[in-house]
Amino acid sequence: MSDLLAAFEATYGAAPAGVWAAPGRVNLIGEHTDYNDGYVLPAAIPYTARAAVRPRTDGVLRLYSEQGDGVVTELRVEELAPGSVAGWAQYPAAVVWALREAGHEVGGADVYLTSDVPGGAGLSSSAALECVVAIAYRDLHGLDLDATALALLAQRAENAFVGVPCGVMDQMASTACTEGAALFLDTRTMTGRQVPLDLAGQGLRLLVIDTRVKHDLGDGAYAELRAGCERAAGLLGLAALRDLTPEELPGALDRLPAELRPLVQHVVTENRRVERAVAHLTAGELAELGPILTAGHASLRDDYRVSCPETDLAVAAAVAAGALGARMTGGGFGGSVLALVPSEELDQIAAAVTTAFAEAGYGSPRTFAATPAAGAHRVS
Ligand code: ADP
Ligand code: MG
Repeated sequence: MSDLLAAFEATYGAAPAGVWAAPGRVNLIGEHTDYNDGYVLPAAIPYTARAAVRPRTDGVLRLYSEQGDGVVTELRVEELAPGSVAGWAQYPAAVVWALREAGHEVGGADVYLTSDVPGGAGLSSSAALECVVAIAYRDLHGLDLDATALALLAQRAENAFVGVPCGVMDQMASTACTEGAALFLDTRTMTGRQVPLDLAGQGLRLLVIDTRVKHDLGDGAYAELRAGCERAAGLLGLAALRDLTPEELPGALDRLPAELRPLVQHVVTENRRVERAVAHLTAGELAELGPILTAGHASLRDDYRVSCPETDLAVAAAVAAGALGARMTGGGFGGSVLALVPSEELDQIAAAVTTAFAEAGYGSPRTFAATPAAGAHRVS
């Protein structure tokens, strides 16, 4: 952390007012449900975006990221508007814009960012970046914003300023998760509860396999999928697909055009998988999560069609090597796979996936064990 303080001073010529951290996440189950008013079950990972920040009184916002473009971006807060900022700086700038849009009288700042959340890997580096700026601004300006309000604000920043029509899961995971637990969130009511995830106590670990691939069609496809879900809900006369029960599913599918059926099939069954997962975790039956993960992946692959050969191979190789279950986590078209594995087999399963990638001619994946970590917080 002394590095961050020194780097801030070297960049901006004075000490920061404080340092904050906000984590990335894995989502245990509940994929593409958050923009359908459904359920999600993310856990924060022990990788964070960190921000050293000092407020300014002259309306200037200066942004620098160690993973950015190597230059300090200088903006004027009153000129912030969707489309006015390019590149990575959009994400932090968007948060300042969203705060001001919401009526908070916040000004500029000097912001120095660094993150060890792998970018574009489906582990939510963008939300980590947004949320660390949001929480720093909250604390520096004494704003009355709880974890949910911060997440909604960061989501609005990404939707309206950056132009990514994401749901609220990533931001809620980053602000509201707690160490040792997964967050069971109802994205309609924005109510949730922490579900203890004592993996080690049951001899289990979560293995994350970052395939390091990101297929380009991701962004446009995400918006199309979301639009498809909304169209299906409209045709069914529902506010959101969340309102369709598994019992009503067969009848509803009959009333939809063929191209929308697999989307609805996924969302309805995925919400049920979240509920089942939470029931098992609550009962302390963590191993039961395994088959739910694998069924969730099959649904993403065969119905929602957001997986890709690399994520499919990571899932298949992990399960073949002894994982209790595995699935792609995050929006899709690449990114990361999450596997539930017996602790003592973690290394061997990670090695088996790496070997399978080499045999398929893919680049080496990055693998790490994820222990459920704390949400966004002040560091110093
Ligand atoms: P994910 O959120 O799954 O990592 P996204 O495509 O949503 O993937 O967000 C990745 C983008 O977020 C990057 O292209 C970059 O613009 C921005 N970003 C994330 N972390 C950083 C960082 N530390 N510094 C600069 N930009 C970052
Ligand atoms: Mg993102």
